[in-house]
Amino acid sequence: MKNIAILGSTGSIGLQTLEVIRNNRDEFSVCALTANSNIDILYKQVLEFKPDIVVIFDYNKYKEFKSLIASHNNDLKVLYGEDGLTYAASYEKADIVVSAIVGIAGLKPTYSAIEKGKTVALANKETLVTAGRIITKKARECSASIIPVDSEHSAIFQCIGRDREFVSKIILTASGGPFRKKTLEELKMVSLSDALKHPSWSMGKKVTIDSSTLMNKGLEVIEARWLFDMAGESIQVYVHPESIIHSMVEFVDGAILAQLGVPDMKIPIKHSLTYPKRTIAVDSKLDFSKINTLNFEKPDTHRFPCLKLAYEALKDGDSSCIVLNGANEVAVNLFLQGKIQFMEIYSIVAKALEKHTLSEVNTLEEIFYIDNWSRNIAMELYKKR
Ligand code: NDP
Repeated sequence: MKNIAILGSTGSIGLQTLEVIRNNRDEFSVCALTANSNIDILYKQVLEFKPDIVVIFDYNKYKEFKSLIASHNNDLKVLYGEDGLTYAASYEKADIVVSAIVGIAGLKPTYSAIEKGKTVALANKETLVTAGRIITKKARECSASIIPVDSEHSAIFQCIGRDREFVSKIILTASGGPFRKKTLEELKMVSLSDALKHPSWSMGKKVTIDSSTLMNKGLEVIEARWLFDMAGESIQVYVHPESIIHSMVEFVDGAILAQLGVPDMKIPIKHSLTYPKRTIAVDSKLDFSKINTLNFEKPDTHRFPCLKLAYEALKDGDSSCIVLNGANEVAVNLFLQGKIQFMEIYSIVAKALEKHTLSEVNTLEEIFYIDNWSRNIAMELYKKR
């Protein structure tokens, strides 16, 4: 029986992780759950999964939750804020910490889990985008394991197995998002509701918008750089609209291994929880008789320039990746609030990167300093436009 702590249990990955656990009660139990403010869902999760600890980041919602739960469970530890997240992430009973908070907000708690030598099932890609060097070094020092949850990285992880020394190239696949066939002119006019309609995956809003700009694939290139210790030049992206091949690895002898499956996040989530074992799945099986063709095309960075920005940031250095991420979080938020057009996401991030001067990054404090700078610049760029 493995004890699971879920950071971000009320989000898309969090809910699907709990579904996996619900269907495999003999394998997993839940020891900690965290949310930002969604206490209604969290409340139901607490009643069903009976964790020891629950954390609500938002202080007012924490107070509301305390009174909501008061009559139910006196043993439950209810915490709030950053300290609460750190406590849950480093809880001694947790065998696996699922890192599923969205954005750089996931970095500190994930770092705390790594520091404690935990096995981290990592969905929060922003952790490696902003702090890949620090996190991977810390993981080696503290004997922590990082098991990828992102479907592409889970695929690569499974394909590589023990053959890391023979890998020559990583090929990340991308669905292409909802706007794969749109012209540049059409992209300038797309609406928020169109951007939120992903063709293959149902995900949280931020990652859905990132998928529509292909920034998500750019963030994944950076994530892959750190997870698999590969140079950016050895990580290629191909658009594969069927989302059947989740990614591929080319080895020095020319052999290519691919991992295939239906597009269902519960498969990589379950893999991250059961690894190194595999357990039986009851649904989500691929039916080859229903697949006619598998298509591949090169991503068009003219129409989807965010992908190019991510490659450039990776080449420039760690501080550029932090700016890329911070400015993107702000720009995506502005787009979600209907305050900017779709293509302005790119222009805000590109301009923030232009204004940035490269600097060394050795600590989390430096990361948050640069992140804060990039957010302020992105807001300034928005106001001045
Ligand atoms: P969601 O937006 O659906 O969920 C985010 C979770 O984080 C929620 O539980 C939310 O709480 C919590 N949260 C948000 N802000 C904070 C904060 N400041 N402090 C503490 N908790 C916070 O995101 P997803 O589940 O879609 O994505 C999570 C991560 O996984 C992202 O990094 C994403 O890129 C990655 N990922 C997601 C995939 C997917 O299919 N969804 C696929 C691959 C990777 P509340 O509900 O209270 O707001």
